[in-house]
Amino acid sequence: MDNSRGTPDAVIVVGAGMAGLACAVRLHEAGLAVRVLEAADGVGGRVRTDVVDGFRLDRGYQVFNTAYPEARRVLDIDALDVRPFASGMIVQGATARARVMLPWRHRRHALSGLLAGLGTLRDNAVLAAITTRDLVLPGSRLRAGRDRRTDEELRAWGMSAKMIDCLMRPFLAGVLLERDLETSSRVFHLLWRSFARGTIGVPALGMGRIPRQLADRLPPGAVTLGARVTEVAADGVRLADGTTIDGRAVVVATDPGSAGGLLSEIEVPPMRAVTTFYHAAPRSPLHEPVQVIDATGAVTDTLVLTDAAPEYSADGRALVSTSVLGLATDERPVRRRLGEIYGTTSGWEHLATYPIPAALPAMPPPHPLRKPVRLRSGLYVCGDHRDTASLQGALVSGRRAAQAVLTDLASHHAGHRATPGRATRR
Ligand SMILES: Cc1cc2nc3c(=O)[nH]c(=O)nc-3n(C[C@H](O)[C@H](O)[C@H](O)COP(=O)(O)OP(=O)(O)OC[C@H]3O[C@@H](n4cnc5c(N)ncnc54)[C@H](O)[C@@H]3O)c2cc1C
Repeated sequence: MDNSRGTPDAVIVVGAGMAGLACAVRLHEAGLAVRVLEAADGVGGRVRTDVVDGFRLDRGYQVFNTAYPEARRVLDIDALDVRPFASGMIVQGATARARVMLPWRHRRHALSGLLAGLGTLRDNAVLAAITTRDLVLPGSRLRAGRDRRTDEELRAWGMSAKMIDCLMRPFLAGVLLERDLETSSRVFHLLWRSFARGTIGVPALGMGRIPRQLADRLPPGAVTLGARVTEVAADGVRLADGTTIDGRAVVVATDPGSAGGLLSEIEVPPMRAVTTFYHAAPRSPLHEPVQVIDATGAVTDTLVLTDAAPEYSADGRALVSTSVLGLATDERPVRRRLGEIYGTTSGWEHLATYPIPAALPAMPPPHPLRKPVRLRSGLYVCGDHRDTASLQGALVSGRRAAQAVLTDLASHHAGHRATPGRATRR
């Protein structure tokens, strides 16, 4: 690029979400200079935590799963101080509720779903068979499996429509942010495996600690905030203020929509929307760290975050998180449903509403679990839209993009050594 400023020997990473940070950390630890350009006023992208009146409010309810293989590779999970939720859920119907827990973690509740009439004996056997298969098969087998819609997959396993509607649809709505179960069955099996293998929870100081931990591994000054990139090429970028910055390579690690705006070859997937409402309650209405899944669909899920992580509140009040699919602004129907679920909302304060229009890329079948990250020598792309729409997928895509940069730079370097006297590009 012309009229450039900056450090031309650095690799430029556009976006400081989980993918961009994972990529930058890998490049830095391989000995390369990196420069991360982030449009927002903080790192983390879709994983940020605000502190409002002493409450830690994640920007949309989300959880960390300790079984994500890439997270285990690149994060110091102990340092995150993850506060676990129960391995299971309470399924709340119009009037009745049932508890479905992983039996090897919560023996006391091993049969509670069945006893509460949630599905037939056969349904429960099917669920056990799917869970066992997903637990024991190597991940490569799950990734290579047949791909179809998740509802078709569950029916093909022999699960009844009632069990799908009462349990799987409401649970998966909270994870995939869609109720039609049109998501790829391969993605479903990978998620189910993580759910069965790991523990879900939140870092004691908020989900934002996860990207923060990665950013802290970069040298001071490596991340520039408030830097919106408007054009990219293999040798540099242009910012919204007209500045150009040269680099040895450029990795576009933005959300899918922004990646599509910067790179014509990127197909932008439809995005799923969700809205999270936060309430402060004088005391916990539940007294246990378990997700409540709403089978009526009025809300998607709700839980008392402070039952798992008391650090999410500074004054001892309970923090209740409730999500609904799509974009919502009216708190009243949500509070009405919370009154039915918890028995009271008296004295509750509505703290904040987070509508997230582009929370997750849709993953209909056939869903390639690994999309290319190398566009051409010098130009790369990563983000959850290249792998699976999850923290795990974003981290993997960041590693893959870093590896592609390292491979290209190494072969470029070797090429120059092999042909002495040839003009170098930079
Ligand atoms: C409400 C919600 C709930 C979720 N729940 C879960 C969950 O429970 N478990 C799970 O595993 N995953 C969950 N996810 C998904 C997970 O958070 C994402 O898959 C992951 O964080 C995506 O990371 P990313 O780095 O690919 O993209 P992003 O986080 O979107 O990061 C992209 C970054 O690029 C920046 N950027 C964009 N354009 C530009 C530009 N032009 N110039 C410079 N910078 C730019 C953005 O500001 C942003 O910081 C959830 C997501 C949301 C929103």
